[in-house]
Amino acid sequence: MCASRPAQAHQPDADTVRGWLAVVTDPEIPVLSLEDLGVLRAIEWRGDTLEITISPTYTGCPAMDRMRADIEAALRARGLQKLRIKEQLDPPWSSDWISPAGRAALQAWGVAPPVRSGSVRCPQCGSAHTTCISRFGSTACKALYKCEDCLEPFDYFKCH
Ligand SMILES: [Zn+2]
Repeated sequence: MCASRPAQAHQPDADTVRGWLAVVTDPEIPVLSLEDLGVLRAIEWRGDTLEITISPTYTGCPAMDRMRADIEAALRARGLQKLRIKEQLDPPWSSDWISPAGRAALQAWGVAPPVRSGSVRCPQCGSAHTTCISRFGSTACKALYKCEDCLEPFDYFKCH
């Protein structure tokens, strides 16, 4: 009887890989992991190649190239060499995919998390009495707002 080695011996499962990728963050928002951002869609083995599917936050977002490179670096550091990173545009990424932990992290970092409707809330004092100063904040993914109550300017994460 031949004791065959399990074919998956060197193929960590999706949950393990997901755990490794927790160190990969949005280059523009280092407190937000790709998982929290909702960018990480699927992790699957295709033969001996690990296929990672990501949903760009918006088409042509320059941060996506960094994210791809960071994903590759994180997995190569774990000894995975055969990688394929696929972008999935359908269904399009939605700010609804940001996890509750991710929203809390954004707020704690001083960036207002995206709102579907209603007012953008000040991450400093929670006031809904805010005004958009500039549609373009420190990066293309952010808009600059000002709180009318505590008078602090803040970034609003506007990818949608
Ligand atoms: Zn405020």
